[in-house]
Amino acid sequence: MLPEFDLLRPKTLAEALDMLADRAPDVMPIAGGTNVVVALRERAYHSSVLLDVSGLADLRGIRKENGHVAVGGGTTITELVESELIAANGAPLAAAAAQLGNPLIRNRATVAGNLVDASPAADTAPPLLVLDAEVELASKDGRRVIPLDGFFVGVNETQRRPDELLVAVRWPVPGGAAAFHKVGLRKAGACSVVTIAVRLACDEAGKCSMARIALGAVAPRPIRAHEAEDALVGTGLADEDIAAAAMLAVQATSPIDDVRSTAAYRREVSEVLVRRLLGGVRTDVLGQ
Ligand SMILES: Cc1cc2nc3c(=O)[nH]c(=O)nc-3n(C[C@H](O)[C@H](O)[C@H](O)COP(=O)(O)OP(=O)(O)OC[C@H]3O[C@@H](n4cnc5c(N)ncnc54)[C@H](O)[C@@H]3O)c2cc1C
Repeated sequence: MLPEFDLLRPKTLAEALDMLADRAPDVMPIAGGTNVVVALRERAYHSSVLLDVSGLADLRGIRKENGHVAVGGGTTITELVESELIAANGAPLAAAAAQLGNPLIRNRATVAGNLVDASPAADTAPPLLVLDAEVELASKDGRRVIPLDGFFVGVNETQRRPDELLVAVRWPVPGGAAAFHKVGLRKAGACSVVTIAVRLACDEAGKCSMARIALGAVAPRPIRAHEAEDALVGTGLADEDIAAAAMLAVQATSPIDDVRSTAAYRREVSEVLVRRLLGGVRTDVLGQ
């Protein structure tokens, strides 16, 4: 049984932001509801007022603007999977979206819902981190933009204020090549045990000019492995450079034992996958 709640159904973004400003912090946005409804049922959320943002046109759409890819917060995971623009300009996100939940979940689940829920295992987070994404938050008082790397604070905690909506996610049209891999207990409908995304670019001399490594489900929040990234830049991406970066990436993690895995397994798999994904992407950027 669900607890009783009031449902506010704004027709415009302005109306939604007014309602949030009036009721915050005692109001919770709901988009696809795939996290909120489960949590309400489990009595994990205590809000008695829900603000339905699923009908807001301003939160929808995938477009290119000013050298960036912009995805409205209310964009569904299915829309990401089906978008040619995302396939061409966000390949690791397309790969993650295709493996998120199951078709029914993907039809309802949104990008904003995935990021604001801030599960350590949120599958869109590592790909968006390696794409250098930022999130745009709107309130009645105006808008602000936060790099995604600084948006996550901890388990289910973000920089979002209760009177704000996540209206868009944006990243520069990416250079280099990228990859994503998800380890779950099943091939579909499985919460991630470990997720890895990487992106590399090289200069004309074949030296690594940019490296991004992000990991999910191995720390209280999705993380970038900054030291590992820095160690790769300027190298020729030899096997030993990649192996050293993979070791550094594991040092950035702080996994736990839980129902899905042990911390030791998560560390082991992180090291192996970072090494494998970097090796694969190296082939793409160097043609070796
Ligand atoms: C069976 C099942 C399988 C799943 N599998 C996966 C999986 O494989 N990988 C994965 O990452 N997740 C998975 N999930 C979790 C969930 O589906 C995703 O996190 C999804 O993207 C949440 O989106 P939503 O629109 O349903 O969010 P909601 O449940 O509507 O909201 C989630 C949170 O985001 C907030 N919110 C929503 N929209 C906005 C907005 N525009 N601005 C501000 N705050 C907002 C809500 O207030 C709430 O705090 C699964 C869930 C279920 C039930």
